[in-house]
This record gives sequence, structure tokens and C-alpha cells, in this order.
Amino acid sequence: MTTTTASSSKVQTFEIAVLPGDGIGIDVTREALRVLDAVAASLNGVAFVCTEYPAGAGEFVRHGNPLPAATLEACGNADAVLLGAMGLPDVRWPDGKEMTPQLDLRDRFQLYCGLRPIRLFHERDSPLKNLRAGEIDMMIVRESTEGLFSARLSHSDSEKGEVCDVMRITREGSERVCRAAFREAMKRRRICTLVDKANVLPSMVYFRSVFDEVAREFPEVEARHCYVDAAALYLVQRPGSFDVLVTENMFGDILSDLAAGLVGGMGMAPSADIGENCAVFQPSHGTAPDIAGQGIANPVAAILSMAMMLEWLDDPRTRAAAARVRNAVECALTDPAIRTPDVGGELTTSGMTAAILAAL
Ligand code: ATP
Repeated sequence: MTTTTASSSKVQTFEIAVLPGDGIGIDVTREALRVLDAVAASLNGVAFVCTEYPAGAGEFVRHGNPLPAATLEACGNADAVLLGAMGLPDVRWPDGKEMTPQLDLRDRFQLYCGLRPIRLFHERDSPLKNLRAGEIDMMIVRESTEGLFSARLSHSDSEKGEVCDVMRITREGSERVCRAAFREAMKRRRICTLVDKANVLPSMVYFRSVFDEVAREFPEVEARHCYVDAAALYLVQRPGSFDVLVTENMFGDILSDLAAGLVGGMGMAPSADIGENCAVFQPSHGTAPDIAGQGIANPVAAILSMAMMLEWLDDPRTRAAAARVRNAVECALTDPAIRTPDVGGELTTSGMTAAILAAL
């Protein structure tokens, strides 16, 4: 399916590859496109050509490949990729692992910089007491091409009664993600915290040494270190003290779910995976098979991920559109009744989007 959204005939066109994927990925991508349509209608001289491509566990069941070559090629050619979520617990490779084409995209296009913004929109959304809206406002920068996740592609022979997953940390991978984190910090409160386990793991000692080198390039930013176990504690005890956190792949995976839990859950947590020439925008959540197809998934994370895409396209008009979408979400969420069931409300997926569109 291809849809074009334009407001005039002479326009700058952005090609968006849309991969709804599986489960609630399909439900929430539809809503992100509704908001993109609405915001694009008021943009002069900018058009979005959104073309849907198959990928995911469902696609594997239908045609035998979770990431068809044509989809991969389209992602490489597009200006940006908008992704829902992928994988289903019942659809697995013979070795027992789930289908994860979204991770294959990160490897294929070297999407090393996983941006996971976490913001508390309303005090009632947090399980923590005595917080005000906006008091939690951090950016987790997750290295997304190496770390412990790189072990997923290695072969292990459990017949021998021992399996090892290797934490792969390279100078190139560490330098580029640390630089990206410091650049994020420059746009924010200028505090960049490395989350590691440098008291135990040699890979993390190396990661820290590279972080410290990169820190010297950014004297305006306060560079801090925190062990990952302590970071989990401080995220709960004093989340407002964090600005930008940078960490390896697996720690980032775990801490970004924890941080999402502080602001209302996975449905409130957008994300972007950025490389040098390609970027994928998707909610931080998975396919949530427990609620898929029921019309109750929270579309906020997907809509905010779409806003991150508008920001990244780096045209003054799309950046302004991104700000409009973020403001509309923020404005809609000031009313605690405007919520889907995961955050204690009663709205449907489509009703939640309607409230955001009204604010837009
Ligand atoms: P993955 O491993 O792919 O990240 P997961 O199985 O760890 O996925 P999710 O699919 O993200 O986890 O879901 C975790 C929980 O959060 C589920 O109970 C799900 O219902 C809930 N959840 C996730 N996303 C949403 C959403 N957009 N709206 C409502 N609930 C959600």
C-alpha cells in the first residue's frame, strides 16, 4: 500500500518505508500514520510517500522469510523507516530464538545509536510518589550494534553443557555512540552518564576508557560514570538526576524498559535507531501479543517515534511539525482521563489518537 500526503504540487518529497510488523505493531503504526497525515496536511511544500512493506514473524509464517530482500532494499532506499513491532512468541527459529528482523535491520544498516527518550507527562502516570510532570526527562542512548546482543548471531553447542555469550565492545562502536550521546547532551542539560560494569568486566573497562577520551572533546558537558546496578537503583530513587545515559546494548535494553515503567509503561516510550545513512523509528515496546488486535494498545510511543522521525529528517518544516506533534501529545496528556487502559484510562487506540489530533 502506498499513500502520498502532500499539501501542494511542487514539494520536497520524503519516502517513508513503513513496516508495521506483528501484533500491536500493526495497530499503533496505523495511528502514527493518521497523525503524520494530519500534520503533513498543514505543511507547505513537503510531502510524505509512505509505502508499506512486509516483515516480521507473520511474514515468516506466510512466505518463509521475516525480512524479505525487497523490504530490506526499500529500507535502504527510503529517507526513513517507520516500524511498528516484530516477533511473536509462538514463531521461532529451530534453535528456539524469536524472529527479530528489527535487530537485523540495526546490524544491516549499522544503526548504532538507539535513542530512547523518557519523559513524565503527568504525575499520575508514574508509580513513584511526589514527582511533577517533566521531572523525569532523560535520554537513554543505547549502543545497538554490538555489546552482549552481538552474541545472538554466534552458534553455541549446548550439547557440551556450556554456552557462552560474548560481550563485544569495539573502539569504533564505542567512540561513535559516546560521541552521539555527548551531542545529545549538548542539546539538553549537558550531563552525560556512562552506565557500565567497569568494576568487573574488562569489556566495560575498555568502554569507559573510550568514553573518557570522547568526553575530552566536549568540555561543556559534565561526564559521569555509574555502574549499571547502581543506575537501576538511582533511576528509581532519583530519576530526575539523569540527563543523558549512554550504555551498551543489553544494559540499554533493560534500563530503557525500567525507565519506561517510571513514566507509565512501554506505551509511553518512543525510540529511534540511527545510523550514518539510515534511521528506523519505532516504539520501544514489542508486539504485546496479550493485547494485540483488541484496539486498546497505547499509540503514544508510536506517535512520538514518528515525531522523532520528523525531527531527524532535518528540514525546518519537518522539525516544526515534530514540535507540533510533541506539543499535541503533551497537551492531550495534561488531562489524566485521556489515557488507554495500560495507563489507567478507558480510551481505545483510535480514541487516544483522536484526542491527540484534537490537540494538534
Ligand atoms: P520485546 O521483547 O519485543 O520488547 P516484550 O514481550 O518484552 O517485547 P512488550 O511487547 O513490549 O514486551 O510488552 C510488555 C508489556 O507491556 C505487555 O504486558 C504489554 O501488554 C504491555 N505493552 C507494551 N506495549 C504496549 C502498548 N503500546 N500499549 C499497551 N500496553 C503495552
